[in-house]
Formats: sequence, structure tokens, C-alpha cells
Amino acid sequence: MKILKTLIIGSGPAGYTAAIYAARADLNPVLYTGMEPGGQLTTTTEVDNFPGYPEGVDGPTMMVQLQQQAERFGTDVRIGFIDKVEFSKDPGETHKAYTEDGTELRASTIIISTGATAKYLGLPSEQRLRGGGVSACAVCDGFFYKGQEVAIVGGGDTAAEEATYLAKICSKVTMLVRKDTMRASKAMQHRVTSTKNIDLRYNTEIDEVLGDQVVEGLRMKNNKSGFTDEISITGLFIAIGHKPNTDIFRGQLEMDDSGYLITKGKTTATNVPGVFASGDVQDKEYRQAVTAAGTGCMAALDAERYLQNVKELVKS
Ligand code: NDP
Repeated sequence: MKILKTLIIGSGPAGYTAAIYAARADLNPVLYTGMEPGGQLTTTTEVDNFPGYPEGVDGPTMMVQLQQQAERFGTDVRIGFIDKVEFSKDPGETHKAYTEDGTELRASTIIISTGATAKYLGLPSEQRLRGGGVSACAVCDGFFYKGQEVAIVGGGDTAAEEATYLAKICSKVTMLVRKDTMRASKAMQHRVTSTKNIDLRYNTEIDEVLGDQVVEGLRMKNNKSGFTDEISITGLFIAIGHKPNTDIFRGQLEMDDSGYLITKGKTTATNVPGVFASGDVQDKEYRQAVTAAGTGCMAALDAERYLQNVKELVKS
């Protein structure tokens, strides 16, 4: 069986940047895109803060360009996902990974860039109505609620960004923040408060999403006053953060309590020799496209150095 020098799992800014660097270093990388080719940025509108785009760029366009750049240097981009791994603890030994159809791959180094996935509140009514008006992606689904009244939960940058996005399409957006402050940056908060059709409610949590087959409304509670209120809406957007996609690595790689992979010092090395982690899967602090890309670059350089060290070890 052919042994790959570098297998990259994930196709966000971290995965593609790792691929660009690995391909240019003759590591002939094979990249598996995962379930959501292009990652989280494919569900974003404008990216205004990635250096080098003075006029901004939309997320999907940026991801297509990153893929093209990785392919230009010979990256083998494969649509599909890895659903099982068997890492070897011995330096220089190959690692195994299996695709969803059972194909076995062997690689000397693996770069994990599997990102993170949207969280839900966990209310039974919310789960029942997923696909029936409950969504975690305003950019993907907002269009379906054109001219209608919707609500969004969360107080971070994602919620603020999505609320202003929805406000352009929908007649009214009720934004529910569970604390008396928002976590979003001041600039994003300003955008929310200066948008006329956003009804911002602090200290407010959802008791129940109303509706049988589709969302018809919300019962909400003010967690300070205990006051409950009902509103009619047709769409509910959940924007309360993300969970790292690390389930398949559980028991094999060190992770923190939230499941984020732990890397050593200022490197991307995990606790297994030859396995590196980059992007949101190992970063709960910054979680930006540019920081993800930066760690993708680091992972490819770390993989290249690791292979060089192993080669020298074998020679001596
Ligand atoms: P965050 O973790 O930053 O924010 C999550 C929000 O959801 C918080 O307000 C949190 O409330 C709230 N929340 C969590 N759980 C619940 C719950 N069960 N019920 C109600 N509310 C809940 O996640 P984001 O996705 O907003 O952002 C992730 C990262 O991405 C951040 O670093 C952010 O800055 C960045 N980002 C940057 C953007 C940009 O620069 N253009 C755009 C989008 C994201 P609480 O504060 O009470 O914990």
C-alpha cells in the first residue's frame, strides 16, 4: 500500500494553507474535505478582515480560491471524510486512517484541520423543529424567511453578524442574549444597536420553541425578572458557538474538557509523533480565518521538519 507523506483532514483555511505549504515542500499531500467542503467560511457572507482583500471577499469565493491555490501546487483534494483513525505512538511508524467507505490510507504525517461545528441549545422543541424553521446558519437559510419575522439566540460576533444579515432580508429580528452584556466586539454591537428592525433583548432565554411541524413562535423568559413572553416568528437561528470536531480522535489524542486538541508549546504537534493539529480544532481563543491559516502553515512546516528528523534518525 502506498504510504502518503502527508494526509490532511479538513478543508477550511487551516487545511488548505497546510496543503499549499506541504505541496510546495514536495510532501505530495492528499486532503480529505470532510462533510462541509470549504468549512465554516462557506456559510459566511463578507470576510472583511482577511489581510490582502481591501474590498473584502465572500467566504465561499475565498475557499474556492484557497482550494485552487492548493491544487496549483499538486495537492490531491478528495471529496469525502475520514471516520476512523489508528495512530501509532512510535516515531517514524505510519498512521492509518479510514474513509467513510472503508478505504484504508497510510500516512507518515497527518494534519488535523477538522474545525468545529455549531452548537444547539438542546431543548426538545428546538431539536424537533430542526429543518422546520430552526437553523444554525443564517447565511444558508435566511433567504427562506424573506419579509418574515425571525429570532436569533446568542451574544457573540456570530450572532451579531447574522442578526444584521437577517435584518436586511427579514421584516423583524428579535435577538436574545442571555446575559446583560454581549460578548461581540464593540463594532459588531454597534451594528446591531443601530439596525432599526433588530429588537435586542438582554437577560432573555428560550423556554420553548412553539409549533408542531414548523416554527410558529417562541416562549421566552427574562432570567432576572422571571417575566415570560411569547412572540410569533417563522424562523429561529441558533448562534451560540461551536464544538470542535474531534470525536474520532477521542482516546488517541490529548484534548481539553471541551474537546479541543492540545498542541505542544508554540508548535502544532499533538501528543502523537507525526500528528499535527491546526485551525479551530485546537483553538478556542482566536478562531479567525487568518489565525487558522497561520496554524495550517505551521502544521505543514512541523510535518516537513518531523519527516526530515525521522529520515536522519533512520540514516544514523
Ligand atoms: P462565542 O463563543 O464568541 O459566543 C457565543 C455566544 O452564545 C455568547 O454570547 C454566549 O453567551 C451565547 N451562548 C452560549 N450558550 C448559550 C445558551 N445555551 N443559551 C444562550 N446563549 C448561549 O461564539 P461565536 O460563534 O459568536 O464566535 C466564535 C469566534 O469567532 C469568536 O472568537 C468570534 O470573535 C469569532 N467571529 C468573528 C467574526 C468576525 O470577525 N467577522 C464573525 C463571527 C465570529 P455568554 O456570553 O453568556 O456565554
